[in-house]
Parts: sequence; structure tokens; C-alpha cells
Amino acid sequence: MLIDTSRRKFMEYAAITASVVALPSSLWGSTARSKFDLPKENSADFWLELSRKAYHKNAEIISTMANQKPVLAVIKNNAYGLGDVEVAKILDTSVHIEGFALVKADRALALRKAGIKKNILLMGDFDESLGQDLVENDIVLSIFSAHALQKIKSLSNNSKKQISTALYIDTGLGRMGIPFNQAFELATAASGSLGLNIKYTFSTLTTPKDFAKEQIRIFNDLIQELSREGVNVGKTHLAPSFSLIDLPSSHQDMVRPGILIHGSYPLANMDASKKWPLMPTYRLKSRVMRLEKLSAGDTIGFSRFYKVTKDEWIATLPIGWGDGYDSGAENGAKVLLNGALYPVINVNANHTNISLGANTMVKVGDIATLIGPEKPEITPEGFGKLVKRHNYLQINYKESIPKLIFDVF
Ligand SMILES: *Cc1c(COP(=O)(O)O)cnc(C)c1O
Repeated sequence: MLIDTSRRKFMEYAAITASVVALPSSLWGSTARSKFDLPKENSADFWLELSRKAYHKNAEIISTMANQKPVLAVIKNNAYGLGDVEVAKILDTSVHIEGFALVKADRALALRKAGIKKNILLMGDFDESLGQDLVENDIVLSIFSAHALQKIKSLSNNSKKQISTALYIDTGLGRMGIPFNQAFELATAASGSLGLNIKYTFSTLTTPKDFAKEQIRIFNDLIQELSREGVNVGKTHLAPSFSLIDLPSSHQDMVRPGILIHGSYPLANMDASKKWPLMPTYRLKSRVMRLEKLSAGDTIGFSRFYKVTKDEWIATLPIGWGDGYDSGAENGAKVLLNGALYPVINVNANHTNISLGANTMVKVGDIATLIGPEKPEITPEGFGKLVKRHNYLQINYKESIPKLIFDVF
């Protein structure tokens, strides 16, 4: 079932699915298979499922949390492992989304090539060889140093097009942006540069509240000073997910969350998660590829990490930490399989084992949900709690994981 031809079939199926999901949900009807599960004959080993509805709903809720301000969605790191092109395509039609922000120039171009219409802010640097392409594709380029401004100015010398830029100010994060004591000078220089316009001015807040408030004050002072000088600073933004929730004065003209878009909060047990219940937007699924009954004394894995103490059925899923599933899962995570939760007992580079107990109805080919909205134990936050880690773990998912997009789940 796991041979290459079936993988190819699956990919074809995925392509077909991606185009039919726009049909009314009623067409899925109550057919024999659940509308979320793939037909068995089109078997893939593991994959991600994204919910259009959950992404759209989250965008709406986030904008409400920020008093109806627009949302600039941060989709760096391949949209935290979930597929930057896929997520941007879903959110490109949301009225709450101003645009997308990321840090790699090639991914900014990939979004445009995939047909994304909204604004795209490149928060990072770019290789000179991509410069003209970035300008042609209306990517907003960040001015984060004197050198970056020079680089963008030299691009404008070779281009008839106005170049949209963003002033990236460091108000205390200490790792990116123009140090604020140099910001006035560079901003006025950028403003006076022919062929450049300033579309955004932004900075990033830290989490400690007192310091974040100080950062906001510094930022607002700078904006005022620049406005007095006649510099058009464009739209302003400061707030990643944490500040968006923690500090309403951080909202500015728009907010700039990453993790909230996917339905997770930046920390576990935040009060806001009760007031604003976001929906996890994705599922990570895998088929059972092997099922064996092991006996007392048997062990599992290279290091013989798991020792079988009484006869038990062990399922092997063909996904491991090499694919981005967190290796900490073997310390308490659960997976959902045919309606029940089972403990993960071992994670290797390519395999994950789960214990099904002394008797089981599970069959090879059945589908396990490793992450999903169905049960508190397998939501991204629930998983993070069980393995005593944070809520951003999906960031390690490999780009090659196939993605299926559904209207609703
Ligand atoms: C990553 C990032 C964000 C989003 O952070 P979240 O905690 O995921 O909301 C916002 N702004 C900048 C500059 C970032 O690098």
C-alpha cells in the first residue's frame, strides 16, 4: 500500500481534491466514506489537512480581538510548517487580511507566482540576483539598515517602477531593524529617495509588558517626529500574537500575528483563549503501516527505548522526527485512531509506534490523527502540554508533507 505508485495516485487525488473542494459542501453528502478521509485505494503514508473555514474564521476573530484592525499574517517558515502557498491562497480572499509577511525572498516570489494578490512584505534581506524580480512582483522591501537602503536605491536606479518599502525599526528586540536612534536619519533619507515609497513602518515588541510599553512610546515618538518632518510613514504595525492579546495599545494601524492564524495561542492556558476560541486549522494524519503483537520482554527501537511488559499490539506509523513530528511525543503524547486515544511510545527518524493494548480492532491502513481539533489531547496546545513543550512545534514539519485543503472541518 505504501509503494510509489500509490503515492503518485495519492498526489493525483490531492490535486483533484484541491480543485473540487470549492464545490458546495453538500456535494460531499453522506457518502460511505467520511468526507475527511481518503479512499483507501489512494493511500499516502501521511499528510496534512487544512480547513479553509477555520482559517477564515480565525482571521475574522483576530481582527475582532484587535478592534477590527486588519491583519498582516506572518507566514514565515513555510507558514510555521503548514504550507505558505496553501495558507496564503486560502487567506487571499479574506476581507480581514491586509497581506502576508515573511522573511525569505524566494518564498515571497513563490507566493506571487502562485497568484497571491494581497500585499507581501519581505521582512528579511534578499540576494541582489532576485532584486528586479522582487520589484516586478510588487514585493514590499524592508529597510532595516543603511546598507539595505543603499541596495534598494540602486535597484530603483534600474527600474521605472516605484518600489514599495517598509521601515523596519528596532525599538528593543535587539536583533533586527534600524536601531531607533538612527531611525530618524535613515527614514528621512528613504523618504527623500526618488523612486521609493514608504508603505509600512514597523517594529517588533518583546513580551515583558513594561518594556513593550516603552517600545510603543519610542515608536510613537518617532512616528510623530517623522510626520512633523513631512515624512509619510505609511501604515504602522507592531504586534505579534502575544502583544496583540496582552496590550491593546500595540494594535496601531494593523496587527501582525503568526501563530494565532493557525488557531494556537503563543502560550498555553491564556485567558484570551476562553474569550476568543480560535479553531486549530489543521490535522496531521498517518496511516497504520504495520501491526504486530509483541510479547513481554520484547523491545522497540534502536536504543530498546520501550520495553514490552505484557503482550500488546503495537502499531507503526510511517512518520517520525525526520518528518518534523516532535520526538518528545514518546513522552506522553496521544494519537486518535478509530475514535479512541492511544499513547505514543516511541518516535524514531521515520517511524512512530503506538500501543493499542492487549486486543485491537485496528487494521493496517487505518488512519491515525496525530494533531487535530477533535480532542483536547491532540490539539497543538494539548500536544504541547503532554510533551511539556511550546505551541509552535509544527514549525518543523517538512515542506514535502502533502497537503489537502478542505472547505470545512
Ligand atoms: C514571527 C514574527 C511575528 C509573529 O509572531 P507570532 O508569535 O507567531 O505571532 C511577528 N512579527 C515578526 C517580525 C516576526 O518575526
